[in-house]
Amino acid sequence: MKAAILTIGNELLSGKTLNTNSQFLSVQLNSLGFEVVKHITIEDDEINIIKTIDELANDVDLIVTTGGLGPTYDDITVASIAKSLECEMIFFENVMKDIKEKFSKYNSKMGQNNISQAYFPMESIILKNRYGTASGMFLKHEKVSVISLPGPPNENIPMFNEFAIPLLQKMGNGKIIIKDIVIFGVGESNVEEILSKEIQTNGNIRIATYIKPRYVIIRLTSKDNSNIEKYSKLILKIFDKNFVGFNDMNLEKNVVELLKKRHLNLSLAESCTGGMISSMIVNIPGSSEILERSIVTYSNKAKVDELNVSTQSLETYGAVSEVVAREMVEGLYNKTKSDICISITGIAGPDGGTKDKPVGLTYIAIKSSKGTVVKKYNFFGDRNTTRHKAALYALNLIRLEFIE
Ligand code: AMP
Ligand code: MG
Repeated sequence: MKAAILTIGNELLSGKTLNTNSQFLSVQLNSLGFEVVKHITIEDDEINIIKTIDELANDVDLIVTTGGLGPTYDDITVASIAKSLECEMIFFENVMKDIKEKFSKYNSKMGQNNISQAYFPMESIILKNRYGTASGMFLKHEKVSVISLPGPPNENIPMFNEFAIPLLQKMGNGKIIIKDIVIFGVGESNVEEILSKEIQTNGNIRIATYIKPRYVIIRLTSKDNSNIEKYSKLILKIFDKNFVGFNDMNLEKNVVELLKKRHLNLSLAESCTGGMISSMIVNIPGSSEILERSIVTYSNKAKVDELNVSTQSLETYGAVSEVVAREMVEGLYNKTKSDICISITGIAGPDGGTKDKPVGLTYIAIKSSKGTVVKKYNFFGDRNTTRHKAALYALNLIRLEFIE
């Protein structure tokens, strides 16, 4: 089945917004077995939308649109699609009720223009928006199906995953099963190379890789669950040390789960990450069971005052050194007696690098009942990429404690 992605919004053409919806939808549709043959981006303009939908309805089986579902005068996507396909628009009482409830829940006053968000073509299946007022729609009209999603990714991604995927799975002949394997610490091209060498598929499964920042996702798609299970086992065997989890698993969730299960707690002494690791952990519900404390020891003085790092070590080796990372973690351990202690010190850049200690140089130390280990990394990237990488590698060290 052929699909097209139509992203609508003036802000996309002016360059104010990077069009990430097209990429997200392409990955999703391809893995659902659709062949994506077109990406089109146009303004919020009625004539243009009508013309584009007219053309696409002849070319493809499925059109997915994003943008223009808001309450303002320039949000005209649904009405324009209805005009193009000659569908009658009707008022959806339950959609209106839902919008009203959202406004009253957040104690704000609904505008008159929000009423327009309750009108959809008569045959539409409404797609619920848990994070905003704009509902989406799934419309089958003659030969073509149209899915319209709101523009903001934080609204359209959950909507697509929860409500559009089940409908799309029904559209094909038979349900398609998707399983994502989340891998950390190997590059995408490496993963691809290893997979192509080690795995011969039987033609009833698709194995594709894609990137989620700093992770590689290996996506298995098949109509046959036993196929998915068989290949997922083979792949896990190859990437056992790099396997973080399935589907939406990430390192912080993984670490919280691992520690919770074992009733262990964690303390952090963060220098270059400045609290990023603890913030990632606190994002995970239930983290209070495992996080003892996090200290941002950014200056040398803080390292001495809070962690008892010796001034002599700081002078001799510098704050970003194996010795200081070790003293930081030992000091933290003595202070907190936490089961797992982590310290991190590095040069995030862009300034502060030298020939011996380039930007990106980072030491991460971990202390547990097994002893103390200090690892050295040379991260590449801008300031925030370096900090994010450092945070993830620190979490990864905790994860590895339990599998090595
Ligand atoms: P709209 O539903 O058209 O009012 O879009 C609202 C917001 O969603 C825009 O201001 C953008 O920030 C975001 N957005 C819209 N289209 C896209 C897209 N294709 N990719 C990423 N973000 C988008
Ligand atoms: Mg818009």
